[in-house]
Amino acid sequence: MSEKEPDPPGPVRPRRPEDFNALYAGTPPWDIGRPQPAFVELARAAALQGRTLDVGCGTGEHALMAAGLGLQATGIDTAPAAIAIAQRKARIRGLRAEFLVWNALDLVGLGQQFDTVLDSGLFHVFEDDDRTRFVDSLRLVIPAGGRYHMLCFSDRQPGDWGPRRVRQDDIRASFAEGWRIDAIEAATMEITIDPGGALAWRSTLTRT
Ligand code: SAH
Repeated sequence: MSEKEPDPPGPVRPRRPEDFNALYAGTPPWDIGRPQPAFVELARAAALQGRTLDVGCGTGEHALMAAGLGLQATGIDTAPAAIAIAQRKARIRGLRAEFLVWNALDLVGLGQQFDTVLDSGLFHVFEDDDRTRFVDSLRLVIPAGGRYHMLCFSDRQPGDWGPRRVRQDDIRASFAEGWRIDAIEAATMEITIDPGGALAWRSTLTRT
């Protein structure tokens, strides 16, 4: 009797803070050196307001974009190397934004509330258990009426390289309690390794 063949290994995805941190010794594929166009569009539409948090901020482009709009901007990331780069960019660009090494699963510990939370590429990092913890964490720091804007890889993106694909239904299920889903739209997430970018969802949710 033959043993069942083991499943082929899946893609290796960074998950632990040290995995991400090591990637910032170079330029990771998502670190395009400017804000994602899908979020620039939101800024142009005046959708960003008030105290703004960039979760999983990486090298800080979205917090810096918010700071450039005159908003009170904070960026958090578990990778110290990314936070150091973000702080340096803020200094060089003469922008005022606070960058902290912090876990997005414990936003309450920041002791602040946020009117706008920007998430470019964090939600799709989490496995199911952490995804639930992350949404719980977000819920506690966004007051009613506050908004969460999220850009993640979509299930329309072929292949299995890169982060986990997210389905519209996953987003609806994750934000079923305590949120209004304003939009889930097809968008592109720019990456350094493909000029065409990756197929993504841009979602906007309001805390109820
Ligand atoms: N928003 C950035 C980075 C996206 S990549 C950009 O658009 O360029 C995802 C980021 O989430 C990485 O920088 C990684 O270090 C960070 N990250 C992963 N798990 C995290 C967690 N639990 N808390 C905070 N940041 C996390």
